[in-house]
Amino acid sequence: MNKSIVLQILKYLPLKPLFRPFYSGCGSILFMHKVISHHEDRQRIEMMKANEIDVDFLEKMLLYLKKKYDIISIDEMTQVLKLKKKLKKKFIVITFDDGYKDNITLAYPIFKKLQIPLTIYITNCFPNKTANLWWYMLEDILLEKSKIRLTYKNKHHQFICENQNQKNKSFEKIRGIIINANAQEQKLILDQLQDNYNKDLTSYINKEALSWEEIEKISKDPLVTIGCHTKNHLSLNTLSKKEQIKEILDSKIEIDKRTNKDTNHFAYPFGTSNEINKNEVENLKSTLSFTSGTTTRTGNIFEEHANHMYALPRIQVLGTQADLSVLELYICGLIPALKNKFRKTVTL
Ligand SMILES: [Zn+2]
Repeated sequence: MNKSIVLQILKYLPLKPLFRPFYSGCGSILFMHKVISHHEDRQRIEMMKANEIDVDFLEKMLLYLKKKYDIISIDEMTQVLKLKKKLKKKFIVITFDDGYKDNITLAYPIFKKLQIPLTIYITNCFPNKTANLWWYMLEDILLEKSKIRLTYKNKHHQFICENQNQKNKSFEKIRGIIINANAQEQKLILDQLQDNYNKDLTSYINKEALSWEEIEKISKDPLVTIGCHTKNHLSLNTLSKKEQIKEILDSKIEIDKRTNKDTNHFAYPFGTSNEINKNEVENLKSTLSFTSGTTTRTGNIFEEHANHMYALPRIQVLGTQADLSVLELYICGLIPALKNKFRKTVTL
């Protein structure tokens, strides 16, 4: 059955009270990426829409969460877990990944108005403008073309993208190839796409990323926590232990210097079971530099997570599911329980 139909059914079934006592935990960490001012009317790749939250929905969601839950900063959350503090209401922590410009231009004024804390995990290649925002370029190419050719590991691949469904599927396949490639392989693929389809990757980062000046300025606001998200946003498990630690620490050193603060919180790039596992968590821990590490595994936070501070699951607020009742299905624990085969404390 179609996923969105299942969600609609779950929304109206009286299941939340059954799951809440067991699966909602003591808190939830939400995460988002981009914020947009209105849904653009142009054709899009489905997967791209998931990472974009409409600013009107963001405000509606924050007002709702503020009323119902205790929205705290990520620093407070680590204290709550470590000291086993009991809060009157379930806590919510709100985070953004990567460092998109719209986090400040569109989202921040709402957080400021409502006095709600937020964390922005910066991958340094955003403000350094060295990131390849290949997903925007790939989307543009797929929407323009009906067939894409790619040579990867000396093999020729062809992706048919004549209709929307094929475009969505090809996007997922090529995305998988790119994020699982090492830096050198990734460069070869992206150079090919730029050359063959007449694109300029740098144009995307210049438009979308926060600058260091903006990060420095916003970091002075006590409502804002700046976290690390590695230097180059690579899939950590494609790197050696030494390289992983360098990716993490180079990021922290530069952010510490820019913000004049000790950056204590970390989010793994991509963060699914395809990219991070026990080794990556151990490597983060071994740096002795952070008090928390968040993944993109779906789950709520339980008291037991005090022993798993470097593998904290989160809940993604999806642009494709901009619906408070659906968000509640996650926060009450119903969807996390189904996704994790009824496992409560999700770590890895
Ligand atoms: Zn990221």
